[in-house]
Amino acid sequence: MRKIIKLAILINSILVCAFCQTVLAGSVDGIRFWQDPEKTRLVFDTSSEVDYKLFSLSNPERLVIDIKSAKLTVDTAKVPLPPSLVNRIRSSQQDDKIRIVIDLKHAVDTKHFKLKPFQNFNHRLVVDIRDKSSAKTATKIIKKDADSNNRDIIIAIDAGHGGEDPGASGPTKTREKNITLAVAKKLAEKINAEKGMKAVLTRTADYYVDHRKRTDIARENQADLFISLHADAFTDRRVRGAGVYIISTEGASSEMGRWLAESENQSDLAGGVEISNKEPMLAQVILDLSTHYSVGASINAANSVYKELKNTVPKMHGKSVQRAGFLVLKMPDIPGMLVEMAFISNPTEEKRLKSSKEQTKIANAVFKGVKSYFLNHPPDNSYYASLAKSRSYKVKKGDTLSDIASTYGVSVKQLKTHNNLKSNGLRIGQTLIIPKA
Ligand SMILES: [Zn+2]
Repeated sequence: MRKIIKLAILINSILVCAFCQTVLAGSVDGIRFWQDPEKTRLVFDTSSEVDYKLFSLSNPERLVIDIKSAKLTVDTAKVPLPPSLVNRIRSSQQDDKIRIVIDLKHAVDTKHFKLKPFQNFNHRLVVDIRDKSSAKTATKIIKKDADSNNRDIIIAIDAGHGGEDPGASGPTKTREKNITLAVAKKLAEKINAEKGMKAVLTRTADYYVDHRKRTDIARENQADLFISLHADAFTDRRVRGAGVYIISTEGASSEMGRWLAESENQSDLAGGVEISNKEPMLAQVILDLSTHYSVGASINAANSVYKELKNTVPKMHGKSVQRAGFLVLKMPDIPGMLVEMAFISNPTEEKRLKSSKEQTKIANAVFKGVKSYFLNHPPDNSYYASLAKSRSYKVKKGDTLSDIASTYGVSVKQLKTHNNLKSNGLRIGQTLIIPKA
């Protein structure tokens, strides 16, 4: 009898132990691909920190990711694939291990890292995949002709957030990242249609670009101005209004500024940046701003945009341009501003931000502010500098008074009074005196 009991206990413990081995510590609950101009990012959402192995195989090219002690709760057949890189994604459960195989179109280089839980995200495993044959950097540099007296003014437009980092969310789940991109594209279009100006976007689709890269793009393109677009959220849904910010070297000028800067600066944690590569802490960043060259220019440009926005949107948040320690504005060499277009957390403002017509209004206001700033502060060798020098204009075929007025940033009325014009009619070869903008 005793023996039987002992045997029963033994069998029981064997069973328990066998069960132990098959208990899976975690699960893979999401798989996403994000494609940007330089790489494809593959993200796994996992219920806990995973133990994994990644290797590539050739003929045909494929990437194998083994995730230990986990089960797969996603249907890999339903994962949208980046068509230029991946043929297929397959998975198999081998005892307590998931094997994910990515069938590739060509050989790749990879970089991978894990991210700890942040906001709505659980643990993540991130694999950045780069085409082996592609050039190291896809960022195009616009060569400025230093000898030219007519070079374009370059304006870097930064659509906040993107990809893994949705930014703030509205009451009906409008994502900040989509609004910022829509307005950025409208603003770029407006700028590119203007003689003497050219826009560079820090991102052109739905993917994440980290803070460092955003400023690098501005610098590589020798931008004269950097404008970061955002729409933030606050715990109190009644809070509304647009705001214009510049970098602060001495701390935030308001509680709200500090709060916004802190939330914007966490973007890299959501967007997915390897922790070791992360920017140093904010205090250090602010100390790094040894040059104050760009601060004065930033204030003037931001004031100009603030003025135009104030005439456009129903409410401004803050009586003037405010200062706060936004990481993305950390550029001692390039003047910059961050525009919070509205509070997406406010139901009325969320609705406004979603409207294409309202997005155009905001883009136009920012554009007007930027243009008026450059008319009054033209960079050396720029087309605007040449405009400022020659304050007279010889009428060419097809010119209209309103075209000329718009080029110089003055009103038709000003042009007419200055030149004693009774009507809007112009003569080819007629010289007009251009009043100060
Ligand atoms: Zn934002």
